[in-house]
Amino acid sequence: MSDSKIPLAGVIGHPIAHSKSPNVHGYWLRKYGLRGHYIPIDIAPEKIKDLLPRLVDLGFVGANVTIPHKETVMDIADLITDRATLIGAANTLIFRKDGRIHADNTDGYGFIENIRQSEPDWNPKSGPAAVFGAGGAARAVIASLLDVGVPQILLTNRTRIRAEKLRDDFGHRVQVVEWVQAGNVLEEADLVVNTTSLGMTGKTEMRVPLDGLRPGIIVNDLVYTPLRTRLLAEAEQRGCRVVDGLGMLLHQAVPGFERWFGKRPVVDDNVRAAVLR
Ligand code: NAP
Repeated sequence: MSDSKIPLAGVIGHPIAHSKSPNVHGYWLRKYGLRGHYIPIDIAPEKIKDLLPRLVDLGFVGANVTIPHKETVMDIADLITDRATLIGAANTLIFRKDGRIHADNTDGYGFIENIRQSEPDWNPKSGPAAVFGAGGAARAVIASLLDVGVPQILLTNRTRIRAEKLRDDFGHRVQVVEWVQAGNVLEEADLVVNTTSLGMTGKTEMRVPLDGLRPGIIVNDLVYTPLRTRLLAEAEQRGCRVVDGLGMLLHQAVPGFERWFGKRPVVDDNVRAAVLR
């Protein structure tokens, strides 16, 4: 990295004002005393194809990408990692010195690292995982769970056809279960992950019956507003080990920060507190 250039990066979305990513990267830049800036960038869907290459021209070193651009940027990127291809979406862009755009997806990495950090004894191979939801986040979660050796994924989604598409894409270790039977899969699962937006502030509450949750299993909610969702609160009451969704947001930011600003940041309670402030 040249001493004369101050690295610029940001998060591209529409809308973007709600994004916590500037707080995360801003905290790490200050903590490590690094020169650099990370800003929210609002780009409307019809403008992304024109404006993304302009960021490269302006000297940005890269960007995170959020809704609604995660799929579109795959058509604009020059190089796409295998995991982004598998997931069908990118959340991290690296603008190379030769002007080419490199697209990656670190959501699955963030998801796994969050569980490993909270539950270091977690053995992915110990038994099936139950996954609620079949949207973009579910693709990243399923790809990474299969990658770390989870033997079976019991997948349930309100719109069954979306779950069936994931099974077709990811293979026989994914088994689709009717949404109305979502409660039944809990009895078999060693890990339960909510990847739906149910339980998020302002959205419908999760109504899946949770009687089947066994004490000692891990329950993770990708929703982090609120931090303690009803799913996590009830799972904790039933003796489960609960992992909230904020850690995934923090861990998925690590590879981009390291690449853009030259330092691998640590995810700890201080960065959590900085983001929650
Ligand atoms: P998405 O692609 O829009 O998928 C939304 C999912 O929620 C679908 O499975 C959808 O089911 C389900 N859903 C929505 N409303 C529902 C309802 N009323 N009843 C039952 N199911 C419902 O969104 P996404 O990108 O996957 O994100 C999903 C959630 O994960 C969001 O809350 C997001 O904030 C969170 N997330 C967190 C992180 C993190 O770092 N912690 C990262 C990524 C995403 P249908 O298919 O039937 O519509």
